[in-house]
Order: sequence, then C-alpha cells, then structure tokens
Amino acid sequence: MAASAADVELQAAGGDTDTRIKALADVKVDNIATIYTLGDELGRGRFSVVQSAIHLKENSRYAIKVVENDSLSDEENLEALETEIKILRQLKHPHIVNLKEVVTAADNTYIVMELLSGGELFNRIVDKGSYQEKEAADLFAQILLSLEYLHSRNIVHRDVKPENILFVSSESSDMKLIDFGYAGLWAADKQLTGLCGTPDYVAPEVLTWYEDDDNGTPYGKGSDLWSLGVLLYVILSGCSPFSADEEEQLLKQVAEAKYEFFENEWKNVSAEAKDVIQRLLVVDPAKRMTMPELLEHAWCKDAVEQCKTRKAQTAQPAAASSRSEETAAAATNPVVASDKAESAPSCSGCAIL
Ligand code: ATP
Repeated sequence: MAASAADVELQAAGGDTDTRIKALADVKVDNIATIYTLGDELGRGRFSVVQSAIHLKENSRYAIKVVENDSLSDEENLEALETEIKILRQLKHPHIVNLKEVVTAADNTYIVMELLSGGELFNRIVDKGSYQEKEAADLFAQILLSLEYLHSRNIVHRDVKPENILFVSSESSDMKLIDFGYAGLWAADKQLTGLCGTPDYVAPEVLTWYEDDDNGTPYGKGSDLWSLGVLLYVILSGCSPFSADEEEQLLKQVAEAKYEFFENEWKNVSAEAKDVIQRLLVVDPAKRMTMPELLEHAWCKDAVEQCKTRKAQTAQPAAASSRSEETAAAATNPVVASDKAESAPSCSGCAIL
C-alpha cells in the first residue's frame, strides 16, 4: 500500500530527527554497554535520568545523563538538547561540570560528564540550616566565577538554583555548576526570550513571558544576577525570600521584589551581605547590580580574590604535568573510591522546600 502524504511527511520529520540526534554524537554505538557500565541513579530531570557509570577501558567513573530519543521527536526538546550540548562543548572552567563526550545509540542519547559525588547545595543547606557568612562568601565566590565565565562567553544559565550546584565530593566545599538545559546564547541584537527557570529563582523580566508568551520583555545576563540574589538569600538564611501557598501569589511577590529580612534569620547577618541581596533583587534589570560590580562588592571581593588565587595555584602543577586534563579528571573519580550518595535528610519544616 502506498504511503499517504502524511506518512511521508512523518517519515521525513523522523529521518530528520534521527540525523540531528546522530549529529550530536562524538561516538555512535549499538549498545552503551560496549563502552560504559551504567550504575545507580544519581538524579532525575524533566526528560532525563542521570546515572553513575564506569568507563570500561579507563576503569574510571562518570555521570551520564540518559535522554530517551523518543522524547526528542518533540522539536522543543531536541532544540534544547542541541543547545545544551553545544554550550557544554564550549566550556572549560574549574567550577563548571566538564563534558567528556556524547554517545548516541538507537534508543538513547548519553551525555557523559565528570562525576560530582558531593551532592547538591540544596541538601547542604538543609543539613546546615544556613551558612555562616565566611563560608557563604567562599561558596558564593566560586559560583560567581562560574557565572562570570559563562557571561564572558555570552551564555546565560537561566536556572541558577541550589539543585544545580553540586559538590565535587562529600568532604569538599568545591562546587561545580551543572544543568545547561535552559542555557541561552545572548547577543546585544538578539536578547533572550521565553519563560525559563524555576518560579522561586526566576527574574521579574523573565516572568513577563508567563503572562504573554509572545510579547514578554527580552532579557539578558541580568536574569542570572537576580537568581544569584535569591540564592544568596537562601544560603544565608535557609529560607526563600519569596514564598506563598499559591503560585500566583509567589509570582506577584517576585514581580514586585517583595521580600523581607526577618529578624529571626537575619539578626546576625552583616549589613554588607544584605546589601548584596538588596542590589541584586531589583526589579529593573538596568538598575540591578552587574557582574563586575558584584565581583568588586566589599562583602565578596576578598573571597573572589582568594578563590582565583587558589585556582591559579592548583592549576600550575597540573599544567606542568604531562597528563592530559581528561586523564586528570578521570583520576579524581577512581572506581575504587566509595562515594555513596548521602541520604536526603528529613527537613519537613524547611522553608526552602
Ligand atoms: P532539569 O529538568 O532540572 O533541567 P535535567 O534533565 O537537565 O534537569 P540535571 O539537572 O542536569 O538534569 O540533572 C538531574 C540531577 O542529576 C541533578 O540535580 C543531580 O542531582 C544529578 N546530576 C546531574 N549531573 C551530575 C553529575 N555530573 N554528577 C553527579 N550527579 C549529577
């Protein structure tokens, strides 16, 4: 029986999708098991499961984001994955997750990344209740440097939140930024559009796309700076600045930057730390503190300098070594290391949940 015009169109579209999926690959395989042994689930996203894995030849551990190819027949999902991979390939920074390779098979696409076994910042905040200022500044400095790097490449992350900040190991306070699924490429003549991110962390200008998905306000790097303001509030207090039972109420608070420093959580926090938050949680992105201003702010300037110095010192012996960076990254995740995921603490009363 001859195929209908609709069938032909579908096949053409399917073929195009397959070609685009294959074009993402560094390596094509029939079965991922020929290169990696997949292990425990580390986390889950909207369209993916992240699993630990062992590279059979190297005998080293990685984290692999597994995306079902069926989910990529949706053009939006495929475009998002293409952007995520394109962006990850450009990045090389001590505080950003490193991409090893992309593997495709008939059923799934596998994004192989360095394994970050120290868990999410979210869980550390829940464990601690909140960070003391010195420790908070050291952590915030690392996050700022990762975003400064992204912004210098005109990449806007668009989903900065504690769930997307992972620690290198459970003993370490070194963090790396993950999840470039919402990241966008910004240009002065091509600002970003569309609703992206997570309600508690999303900037007011991004929220304009919630009301009108055709005519919101174009936006740029400032949207990440807003999210950094929310993030610092959460790190220092263990609470969200914006919280309400109904999403509509929450979005109204965000749109108006309506939040308070409650006495209970904030009485021992310095005026300088609060000043950072107040200058970031500004509705008008043109009046919001910029990245260069933030890096120079009295509250975090020293921590930023120390973080840069530490990184320069640790980078030197590595540069002198003959090992490739890839081998060095693999060596930090030896198969013999025990890095069982921490079990999530009970935190029913926590305001950031
Ligand atoms: P989302 O729907 O939030 O965009 P996603 O599908 O893009 O999610 P990620 O946020 O990248 O997926 O990853 C989901 C979870 O998997 C993370 O929150 C984290 O707990 C875990 N994870 C991701 N990358 C790694 C990694 N490199 N090492 C260890 N765990 C990881």
